[in-house]
Amino acid sequence: MRYSGLFPKTLKTAPSGAESLNHKLLVRAGYIDQLMAGSFTLLPLGFRVVEKIKEIIREELNKTGAQELLMPLLHPRDIWDQSGRWSKPEVRKIMYQFKDIHDKEFGLSFTHEEIVMDLLSKFIQSYKDLPVKVYHFSTKFRNEPRAKSGILRGREFMMKDLYSAHTTEEDMYLYYNQIKDIYPKIFKRIGLEVKVVEASGGVFTPSHSHEFQVLCRVGEDTIFYCDKCDFAQNKEIFQGQEGSKCPNCDGKILTAKSIEVGNIFPLGTDFSINQKVFYTDANGKQNPIWFASYGIGPTRVLGTLAEVFNDENGLIFPKSVAPFDVHLISLSKTEEAKKIEEELEKNGFEVLYDDREVTAGEKFATADLIGIPVRLVVSEKTGGKIEFKQRNKKESQLLTLEEVLEKLK
Ligand code: ATP
Ligand code: MG
Repeated sequence: MRYSGLFPKTLKTAPSGAESLNHKLLVRAGYIDQLMAGSFTLLPLGFRVVEKIKEIIREELNKTGAQELLMPLLHPRDIWDQSGRWSKPEVRKIMYQFKDIHDKEFGLSFTHEEIVMDLLSKFIQSYKDLPVKVYHFSTKFRNEPRAKSGILRGREFMMKDLYSAHTTEEDMYLYYNQIKDIYPKIFKRIGLEVKVVEASGGVFTPSHSHEFQVLCRVGEDTIFYCDKCDFAQNKEIFQGQEGSKCPNCDGKILTAKSIEVGNIFPLGTDFSINQKVFYTDANGKQNPIWFASYGIGPTRVLGTLAEVFNDENGLIFPKSVAPFDVHLISLSKTEEAKKIEEELEKNGFEVLYDDREVTAGEKFATADLIGIPVRLVVSEKTGGKIEFKQRNKKESQLLTLEEVLEKLK
């Protein structure tokens, strides 16, 4: 990709309404654009990052036997009446609900449990049809009252939601625990360390859920966790206080602000019973289905990466999800740069080549702001070699093209 053709270009200053760092940086660097509070366009750079985040999630979930599908976002009221959630005050607060011109009521999806149950009612008869594990990546709508955290809290945002249906509680927890172990691996591949935190089930279940939290100064959540073992609870359920002894070991409890990037819910049989969706067991008896759901917010993950990985000059993306592998800059060595671009692309690397006729300073500033992990420069000063610099390091090296290719691998 040539920078001259990239839409749009970076901005000199952050938009005046932006309060949070992720909002300022991602808008300035050309990853996102705000339409209104809590509503963003993923511009080509942001879209590339979110696609890479999605691909990592997809790979890991497919390994567990989960299958990808795509469900509608416009939901008729009657399905939501089956579970009883349509009229719950805490649901009415976040769900966009309205009538069409025929006076029929609809809602915009803020989650999909009811819709998955409706699918199961049509396709599940006996225990032989279970378990079912399905997920999709799709937009969720939530009437968020304080959408001021940039892309961390949208009123319209991207979610990966996975649903699993089982014959027994034991089987449900087997899969639940498998996903609980896989989520930290997913986030690690994306470049984020998470704490697995016990929390309440919110509007989803009376049981505890597990949240996946990234420690971050500007996070809206507060968690309490042990400095020795993996005990961790959300502020809403933790009984003790900072400095107290860990309930599981002799460690000490610490507290921190954090961003919730994922949440999983062992829902149990309530949805099945309320929506009257049953399966027949080996003895011909009707039983309720054990159900669980598992969310990750890829657009919130993009915002979290921006909050966690940056410096005074801009963003610093982890290699696995950066929009490009290499940011190539030529200072009056156009022919050489074009050759390097071609060689890199031949070897499977994604290159953003800044082919503009602007000052060196402007090109370097653009590269720092966008935050691609590797910057390559060819100029009179580099002779026959290429200057190789990592975005998160101060020093640079002069390398041959072969050495650059070796390092990128
Ligand atoms: P929060 O407590 O931050 O409002 P939540 O607990 O209501 O979030 P869940 O229903 O658990 O959210 O949603 C699953 C995942 O979807 C979250 O872990 C998060 O990554 C993402 N998510 C939820 N709400 C938003 C939002 N408003 N904007 C962006 N991502 C979101
Ligand atoms: Mg949650």
